[in-house]
Amino acid sequence: MQLTEHFTLEEFTRSTTGERAKINNSVPVQLMPNIKLTANKLECVRKVLGFPIIITSGYRCPALNTQVGGSPTSAHTKGLAVDFHSSYGTPKEICQRLIDAGVQFDKLIQEHNQWVHIGFSPSNNRQIVLTAVKQGGKTVYVNGLV
Ligand SMILES: [Zn+2]
Repeated sequence: MQLTEHFTLEEFTRSTTGERAKINNSVPVQLMPNIKLTANKLECVRKVLGFPIIITSGYRCPALNTQVGGSPTSAHTKGLAVDFHSSYGTPKEICQRLIDAGVQFDKLIQEHNQWVHIGFSPSNNRQIVLTAVKQGGKTVYVNGLV
């Protein structure tokens, strides 16, 4: 199902972890407005970068979120966040570009120099910027781009 010009619902629900664990990760109908909001915001992200973005994790039903070790309150479970990468550049370069371009987001996280997490809010985008790093084997989030 096509959500916007460049994004399909399948890109939001696809999960190799979910498939392996036989988890049904389809989006509940009440969350579809959130998914559509996120897809629309991602069109803006794509436009600013000038390159396609590859979603590696979009919507996560609670079972899948638990399986991948996500925070119980993760915006992924509400259809309001995606993890992605892009041939635009490194995760840090992508984050910097989105900040410089004034893209509206609730939370932008540069994750381990491997991917970008971007979350949106339907009502109040807080423009929080964090970097995820490993400290003593645990993921910690530090303020700003590191
Ligand atoms: Zn994420």
